[in-house]
Amino acid sequence: MEVLYNSTRSKGKPVTASQAILKGLSEDGGLFVPDHIPALDKSLRELSAMDYRQVAYEVMKLYLTDFSEEELSDCIRKAYDEKFDTEVIAPLVEAQGVYYLELFHGSTIAFKDMALSILPHLLTTSARKNQIENEIVILTATSGDTGKAALAGFAGVKGTRIVVFYPKDGVSPIQEKQMVTQKGDNTLVVGIHGNFDDAQTGVKRIFSDREFARELDGKGFQFSSANSINIGRLVPQICYYVYAYAQLLKEGRIEDGEKINVVVPTGNFGNILAAFYAKNMGLPIDRLICASNENKVLYDFFRTGVYDKNREFVLTTSPSMDILISSNLERLIYGIAGGSADKNRELMEALGTEGRYEIDGAMREKLADFYGNFASEQETAAEIARLYRACGYVLDTHTAVASAVYQKYRKETGDLKTTVIASTASPFKFTRSVMNAIDAAKYDAMEDFALVDELSAIANVKVPRAIEEIRTAPVVHDHQCEVSGMKDVVRDFLGIR
Ligand SMILES: *Cc1c(COP(=O)(O)O)cnc(C)c1O
Repeated sequence: MEVLYNSTRSKGKPVTASQAILKGLSEDGGLFVPDHIPALDKSLRELSAMDYRQVAYEVMKLYLTDFSEEELSDCIRKAYDEKFDTEVIAPLVEAQGVYYLELFHGSTIAFKDMALSILPHLLTTSARKNQIENEIVILTATSGDTGKAALAGFAGVKGTRIVVFYPKDGVSPIQEKQMVTQKGDNTLVVGIHGNFDDAQTGVKRIFSDREFARELDGKGFQFSSANSINIGRLVPQICYYVYAYAQLLKEGRIEDGEKINVVVPTGNFGNILAAFYAKNMGLPIDRLICASNENKVLYDFFRTGVYDKNREFVLTTSPSMDILISSNLERLIYGIAGGSADKNRELMEALGTEGRYEIDGAMREKLADFYGNFASEQETAAEIARLYRACGYVLDTHTAVASAVYQKYRKETGDLKTTVIASTASPFKFTRSVMNAIDAAKYDAMEDFALVDELSAIANVKVPRAIEEIRTAPVVHDHQCEVSGMKDVVRDFLGIR
């Protein structure tokens, strides 16, 4: 059955999956949502005999219904290949009776690779399907991580170019090195003289510049975004929850149909929303445990029904979760509002003007699948140390937030169901925080790469390729510009000046 996509903010004409991927965001500012959640059409047993790519196909075909079998398989084959350092793609590792679903085996050792390795192929296929002959130009502003994952995904993909702007003095030395060593003729990395907001505002300005868009169109280019609200990033994230369940079943850890809990370290609410979609497709998931760091807007929301971003922004050791507006939550709000675009728009407008909104009792009742809690900085560090001492397994800071929240959940509820924790980054990506959590006195004075080697030794894990590369790779991007010069930089890169 065909799945079409509606905007969360108005009742316009629905679009196809490929159109939704191309547009990213609806013209009314809403997010695209499927008009119904399709049910899995293979049994859990059948899925348990499949490898990652096969499971990905079985899930994605149900959402991207205007893609042919060949088109979708081709995208999947190009995405989940040797870029990943394990054929399994997303290994499930048991530690102290809990299953950690390692989503960090792609090129930038964080879970964004799961979606950003396939998005470029979904985009170029979507362009072809809609008779778009322009080259797709991705513009991104980054505070560090997303930029590198997008670069790695789009590098070398025919029919695309990617420009990443980052605040020259606003990312970590390792993050900068990761980006400026990016290979690929279709990539450009530029440090701007300004902060992340300046970069973001500059990109938005270029995006909404109609005259510039016309000029580009005349030269055979058009802009697109790799933003996390694109349905082409959400759908690939559903696959690994189905895969994780299938692996548990295959290994005899659970009975067919037995319910499991899923814990997700959350920022923009994309990853956990994917788990919610998986549940609604028929995957036997009981609770969806939403873990926040000290920026605990979501915890407060699940507890009180009030979403309020008017609060201090805390810089934590899990920076990818330092977020006060979880943009993907809008899809859930639209859902619990019974698919009412009017109701959802009202709430989102309140968020825009007052920075807060409150949902009613009927909507709150529909949140029973979710449990929210948070972990403080201290609790997060203690969880890394606890697990390491107990069994030698080392978590990154984001996963540790989830793991600490899960311990609270278990204590509070006594629920002992089999549990999968989404492990969103390699500890090597946040080496200093991780090592300080294990033994601050011993490691605090060590150099970054000495720490990397030490982590490798104590965890008994090989240093990932992504880290080895930045140790030795030559710098190939050294562009800088003023905020006012961003548009000219794009012109020069596309050779249209
Ligand atoms: C992006 C990110 C998250 C948060 O995921 P959302 O989908 O934004 O909720 C968690 N951990 C890591 C390491 C991330 O990069």
